Amino acid sequence: MNTELMNEELQDFIRKYDLYGCIQCGRCTGGCPVTVRTNLNVRRFVYNSLDQSMLDDLAKLPEIWDCTACNTCAVRCPKGLKPVEVLMGLRNILVVEQGTVQPTVRDALESVFLEGNPWSKPRKTRSDWMEGLDVRIAEPGEKVENLIFVCCTVAYDPRVQILAKNLVGLLNKAGVDYGFIGESEACCASEVHHLGEADLFAEMVEGNTELLNEYDAGRIVTISPHCFSTFKNQYPALKARVIHYTQLIAELLASKKLNFSKEFPEKIVFHDPCFLGKQNGVFNEPRTILGQIPGAEVVEFERRRERSLCCEGGGGKMWVESESKKERLAETRARDAGALGASILAVACPFCVLTLDDAIKAKGLEEQLRVAEILEIIGGLVE
Ligand code: SF4
Ligand code: SF4
Repeated sequence: MNTELMNEELQDFIRKYDLYGCIQCGRCTGGCPVTVRTNLNVRRFVYNSLDQSMLDDLAKLPEIWDCTACNTCAVRCPKGLKPVEVLMGLRNILVVEQGTVQPTVRDALESVFLEGNPWSKPRKTRSDWMEGLDVRIAEPGEKVENLIFVCCTVAYDPRVQILAKNLVGLLNKAGVDYGFIGESEACCASEVHHLGEADLFAEMVEGNTELLNEYDAGRIVTISPHCFSTFKNQYPALKARVIHYTQLIAELLASKKLNFSKEFPEKIVFHDPCFLGKQNGVFNEPRTILGQIPGAEVVEFERRRERSLCCEGGGGKMWVESESKKERLAETRARDAGALGASILAVACPFCVLTLDDAIKAKGLEEQLRVAEILEIIGGLVE
């Protein structure tokens, strides 16, 4: 926006985020994990956003890009506000109305618009990971009990394509009715929302809702917690229920459609992904799966479940570099896992795999510790 928000627009901003409801208790900032390494003070943003003359300047402060959208501030707010969304609203002012955007953010948004993914990859190669696999693709209009939504990162990034490949193997072994979407699958737009492009987000929600509702799906199963959270909370017109794959696998183990047949003699510590745990309350299923692996010892972080430390992979942070040179939260997490004597840092999210892989290398812990997504761990252990 080149000029100040008109009063009416400011009132909309205040209403949208319920800014008058804030009692300035500071619990949001007190719980915000990035305050240890950046200048972000979310309470102050909530307060200052009440002043029309400050909105433009607030939107330009670099620390609005330090937020990882972990949601801790919303979980802790006694008044039920979502301070994180105030920051997303400010990003929207900067990106859309002021047109000021970092090149990496611009490229990611342009790629979602043109190719349906933020990784600047051609739309037509989205299903290349399926080559050589016995995968069932569901056609629009078809009845399918479990409609699988892969995620852009899993579809294109060679480090995490194994998640989708292993899920195919598990679904085939369990003999469940499933279907993948294939090339017409497009970005869930979680990161578009968090990068502040509200119009493109609305467009993607509309297009994806139309596509997903064409299927007679019993439920939509996502691999990434980011797709899971976005569909569940920001797609009001989706007809099918949305679950995360850990919920499906836990169900298949409980019904004995999947059974562990091999040992995995490792010490595992599970890192709760923010978009699965804090944001949607899925804490138990990943632990239920890991707890049944024969030969494995499962230990817990001191900061776990609602108090889990963010890996800084969400909130558009894959495309925005933080100015802070202090230890990254993912590095703190890797250090904590190392101190527990864990050999496997288990996660249930492709972004966590990428951030924690880097963190383990940065901390020189590769000899004793590795990151493994739950699908990576169990892929070869079940019959
Ligand atoms: S926790 Fe909620 S009420 Fe307290 S300062 Fe933050 S936004 Fe305001
Ligand atoms: S979402 Fe997380 S990182 Fe962002 S302001 Fe809230 S607590 Fe801080």
